[in-house]
Amino acid sequence: MIMDILINSEKCKVPILCRKCVQVCPQCVFRLHPTHIRKYEEIPPEHWELSVSFADLCAGCMECVKVCPEHAIKVKPAKERSKEVA
Ligand code: SF4
Ligand code: SF4
Repeated sequence: MIMDILINSEKCKVPILCRKCVQVCPQCVFRLHPTHIRKYEEIPPEHWELSVSFADLCAGCMECVKVCPEHAIKVKPAKERSKEVA
């Protein structure tokens, strides 16, 4: 089943300091990446972003939802979203 994975960036403000969802996901769905890179400069924590890179690999285990301390992740079958939009 294809899943929709939504991250609320208002709740997940500095993902690089948390990373719990990244660590727990058995399918490596999430990716942490810098928003910009300056040569020879360390990237400050607030300039890291969490994104869903491999949603099609999601097994729907809900481990990321359970572990997130900010309740920032929603995972649901993609079909449900199309019903909500309709
Ligand atoms: S539901 Fe499971 S497989 Fe899907 S993103 Fe969350 S932890 Fe990964
Ligand atoms: S577990 Fe939640 S708060 Fe932590 S990085 Fe993931 S989405 Fe952000």
